[in-house]
Amino acid sequence: MASFRCRRCSACCRQPGFVYLTPQDAERLAAAFGMDVYKFTETYCLLLDRRHLALKKQTDESCLFLGKEGCSVYESRPAQCRDFPLQWKTERSFGYCEGLKGR
Ligand code: SF4
Repeated sequence: MASFRCRRCSACCRQPGFVYLTPQDAERLAAAFGMDVYKFTETYCLLLDRRHLALKKQTDESCLFLGKEGCSVYESRPAQCRDFPLQWKTERSFGYCEGLKGR
């Protein structure tokens, strides 16, 4: 896995499911938008099961912050995104991640 190279295909940003935020993720992203955390979460987040903060999604299931040029908040992206696929992945990941396919 040390040889993994991201192909920037953005497939991971278009998967079903949610990007969950840690409190640190929310603070970092809020700062990047020049917002306080309350305003950031009110604008860009969902509260799942009344306690899990996750990013809203676009109507096609892709991440709210996925733009034409890829991730629009790359420098401030959440830990869940930073950690994929070296720290975590699923069996399904091998079917869509160009970097995992090309190992
Ligand atoms: S799916 Fe894999 S190769 Fe494509 S952007 Fe995500 S990590 Fe990179």
